[in-house]
Amino acid sequence: MATRISCSVVSILVLVLAIHQPFTVHSRSLKSTDPSLTSFQSLEGAIKGQTRHGIREVKRYLKAFGYLDYGEGENDDVALMDDKFDETLELALRSYQKFYRLKVTGKLDADTVKQMSAPRCGVPDLVHPRHVGTNATKPSKFRMVARYKFFPNNPKWPPSQTRLSYAIGPVPKAIPLEEFRGVCSRAFQSWAEVTAFTFEESTSGSADIVIGFYRGNHGDGNPFDGPGNVLAHAFYPTIGRFHYDAEEQWSFNPGLTETDLESVALHEIGHLLGLAHSSDPNAVMYPSIPPGIIHRNLSQDDINGIRALYPEQR
Ligand code: ZN
Ligand code: CA
Ligand code: ZN
Repeated sequence: MATRISCSVVSILVLVLAIHQPFTVHSRSLKSTDPSLTSFQSLEGAIKGQTRHGIREVKRYLKAFGYLDYGEGENDDVALMDDKFDETLELALRSYQKFYRLKVTGKLDADTVKQMSAPRCGVPDLVHPRHVGTNATKPSKFRMVARYKFFPNNPKWPPSQTRLSYAIGPVPKAIPLEEFRGVCSRAFQSWAEVTAFTFEESTSGSADIVIGFYRGNHGDGNPFDGPGNVLAHAFYPTIGRFHYDAEEQWSFNPGLTETDLESVALHEIGHLLGLAHSSDPNAVMYPSIPPGIIHRNLSQDDINGIRALYPEQR
């Protein structure tokens, strides 16, 4: 029986890998409809050594965002299916707490649970080199620096490509297209102002970058999770794909429960250009954004990051 289970897990894995190979092999383990993914409140106070219902969801969450790694293969899948608060989980929590500048306790304390329940970008905070490109450096190390970050091996647009075109893909009826085009145009313009990139909307069908709204499993191996938690994701250069989760409450001018389209666009374009997540809470590249918040200006950290990635553009 155990062999049969692991065989089917492996075949699901192979299928997902066949669909999509970039940086989020992680999300194979996320159950997109599982509500406990976004609600860890009942686990508040959990510490190493305990077995508590729902710990597996914490492990999957930390794995999805790059903090937890049991290694590839069967060990990984077995560990992610049990509710034991083990040493690996404690280490992952410590590194999560460090990134978010929380008190580093290794426990599921109140601040940690609160941060884990916040709406956020689907791109992992720590990207394992083996999930990007083929020239990975030391495979056992995560890249971790103080503020702005790049993806492993620094993927970027080549010097010959500073004029990037973008196209707008599927947009829900509830979001007026003309207004949404304005959002994209302004967000691209913000990045253009601090780089040598220019961005032009393409209406011909072919474009370097395509932006659209998708729900659930949408074919790139990174299924969205319904309302809450993951808001959007985008891919590092030169993949050029930026997806909003269509099941969020989007707004051009958000109220208390809505999320600002333009703030999220500004963040995701940072990924399209090669920036990973920053641990600077003032940065546009910080991973989470609460509902109702507008953050439409690049911070010095974002500008420093993009200029460090494209020094030839200065
Ligand atoms: Zn992000
Ligand atoms: Ca979501
Ligand atoms: Zn996607």
